[in-house]
Amino acid sequence: MHVRGPDWKPSLDDPEVRGYIIEEAGEEGLELARHLRDHPHVSGVDILDSFKERKASAVRKALYRLMEAHAAEYEKDTDSKGWETFYWDLDLEEIRHILRRRWADELLHIEKQLKFEEDHEFYACPDRHRRILFEDAIDIQFKCPVCHKPMEPLDGAEVRQALEARRVELEPALRHG
Ligand SMILES: [Zn+2]
Repeated sequence: MHVRGPDWKPSLDDPEVRGYIIEEAGEEGLELARHLRDHPHVSGVDILDSFKERKASAVRKALYRLMEAHAAEYEKDTDSKGWETFYWDLDLEEIRHILRRRWADELLHIEKQLKFEEDHEFYACPDRHRRILFEDAIDIQFKCPVCHKPMEPLDGAEVRQALEARRVELEPALRHG
């Protein structure tokens, strides 16, 4: 369980933050995010140097994906000769808002799902190939569409418990701000 109170600040130690970054920027993005955390204000050249074994284009792509995911930002410095240097930093502040919005959506979805689970009965064969609504199970004479074995009513407690657990996990995070 990982409950986030009102003072929550996103960090790479948080599995939800890591999950978000992997989803948006891949494992390479997460690796780069860790690198930026450990090397604040590192130049693009130094990043490429640290990941020498990779293709520069792939490292650049991962950096930009990280930026598009609002997890990194850069500052451009132009010297007197017109040479540009990019300095990168990890910036997770925006993710705080993004994740809270996602959790709010997820919570809404879970509440709808819970209501649906409570209001409906499901059937499945002993191998649980498919979870079929009672109304739909009638249409197929309570035979599993996969193995054709008879289906029996399912105890929805497990599904409801999983949804409840996630709801409890999300709610304290959203109650404040
Ligand atoms: Zn079956």
